Amino acid sequence: MRKGDNLIDILEDWCKGCEICIKRCPVQALELSTELNKRGVYPPKLKENNECTFCRLCELLCPDFVISVTREEVKEVDEPKSKLIIGGVCNDI
Ligand code: SF4
Ligand code: SF4
Repeated sequence: MRKGDNLIDILEDWCKGCEICIKRCPVQALELSTELNKRGVYPPKLKENNECTFCRLCELLCPDFVISVTREEVKEVDEPKSKLIIGGVCNDI
């Protein structure tokens, strides 16, 4: 298994622009977007130099459930070392 990128999903149009997420992020990983959402506010976005530590504080503090933080984990699946065949197991592959 290898660790992948942290992913932050932001439902921009749900954001009401309170900026709690931006102000409380311990590593200042978020900033205001430059584009207004449908509610007429600037939602958060990750900064270019992504410093997110996957703490999930922004997700937990957002009153409007705008942010979801997930860590992408990619499982490297090993090729099977044996193959089940009719009548038994064949290890000769
Ligand atoms: S805490 Fe939620 S509602 Fe407030 S600015 Fe951040 S995403 Fe928007
Ligand atoms: S998960 Fe933590 S470090 Fe990442 S943006 Fe949210 S508050 Fe900041």
